Amino acid sequence: MIVKPKIRGFICITSHPDGCAANVQEQIDYVKSKGPVEGGPKNVLVIGSSTGYGLASRIVPAFSSGANTLGLFFEKPGTEKRTGTAGWYNTAAFEKAAAAEGLFAKSLNGDAFSHEAKSKAIDIIKNEMGPIDLVVYSLASPVRKDPDTGEAHRSVLKTTGGEYTNKNLNTDKGEIEEVTIGPATQEEIDNTIKVMGGEDWELWMNALDEAGVLADGVKTVSYSYIGPELTWPIYTDGTIGMAKKDLETVCERLDSKLRDKYNGSAYVSVNKALVTQASSAIPVVPLYISILYKEMKAKGLHEGCIEQIQRLFADRLYSEEIPLDENSRIRIDDWEMRDDIQEAVAKSWDTISNENLANLADFDGYQEEFLKLFGFGVDGVNYDAETDPETSPPSIT
Ligand code: NAD
Repeated sequence: MIVKPKIRGFICITSHPDGCAANVQEQIDYVKSKGPVEGGPKNVLVIGSSTGYGLASRIVPAFSSGANTLGLFFEKPGTEKRTGTAGWYNTAAFEKAAAAEGLFAKSLNGDAFSHEAKSKAIDIIKNEMGPIDLVVYSLASPVRKDPDTGEAHRSVLKTTGGEYTNKNLNTDKGEIEEVTIGPATQEEIDNTIKVMGGEDWELWMNALDEAGVLADGVKTVSYSYIGPELTWPIYTDGTIGMAKKDLETVCERLDSKLRDKYNGSAYVSVNKALVTQASSAIPVVPLYISILYKEMKAKGLHEGCIEQIQRLFADRLYSEEIPLDENSRIRIDDWEMRDDIQEAVAKSWDTISNENLANLADFDGYQEEFLKLFGFGVDGVNYDAETDPETSPPSIT
């Protein structure tokens, strides 16, 4: 099959197996170029391991400390006529590269929120891996089916105050327009917390604990975002921000339990705003990211998921002392939040319009990265050649 991009709003409905493989290889090469992470983990479970921050969180331990990894995600395989999702092809490439180095790598495709996914993962850990020393929880999902009641909860991206109007980038048209986001009802806030808050992370950690598959000194980490004030009404103070606050509350509880029982620890890491399938759906954020990229690239500070997560492992999680902020969070958004970067972004934000978009923002960079998420526009890939849409991870369950 010859595969070309087909973009529908915030998503590209085709993915390129060879392009995804080249992306994964690029990330592996980067991790290897940085050298080993001393004292890094050896037996890792990544929940949400197929794209974005979770994929990077699988690649870093595998290729910087030789870790065995179990990855869990929700993706679609390709068929003869239709391509699979990017995360499916990313995983195929990851597993192949891991096997070539003699690393154990197994993957589970299913609903992480279900009891079934947890018990399948525990079986694999018990029978094939041994106790886990790092659990990364990196899910981004619009919906969660409660495993006990069967009720489907949907997250929303709304404010928790009044209406909020700001500039927004219509990424289809490449034009700036105004967007007004309305306030959420209490039910919508509760549902967003149910989907993107800490409840399922805690269920996972409790299930792993009860099954006796956590190692002494185990660490667990989940990801959050804060960003500048201009995005607070839609992010930090919005419905998603309420879910992230819940994540922090759960983290505190997990941390004290893991410390008591395993001499372990739990962290929330605040990461940089990046183009991923999840972030491209948030209003206002793509324009902010485009301006941010321009400023960070100009100052040589730009990072993607792999650079962020390599730094998280090398300079935070596995450094001698883990630097934390006043709310006990890890911050790898430190370069994004530097005063000089944020002052420059705020100045551009005030004056940006369709006329000066190309000067003040890196929209080309945004679009390139968006296409790259699906394996398109990657150097060295021949997009006119036939590729196999049925490419699959060898050890998928
Ligand atoms: P992403 O969309 O790239 O990845 C989401 C992952 O979750 C994928 O592996 C997907 O398969 C998996 N998934 C979704 N629903 C699932 C389900 N029901 N069962 C199993 N797997 C499922 O997202 P991302 O941007 O990497 O986000 C990961 C985390 O990082 C989120 O908590 C997000 O809030 C946080 N974060 C993102 C950014 C950003 O700018 N992208 C910044 C800071 C923090």
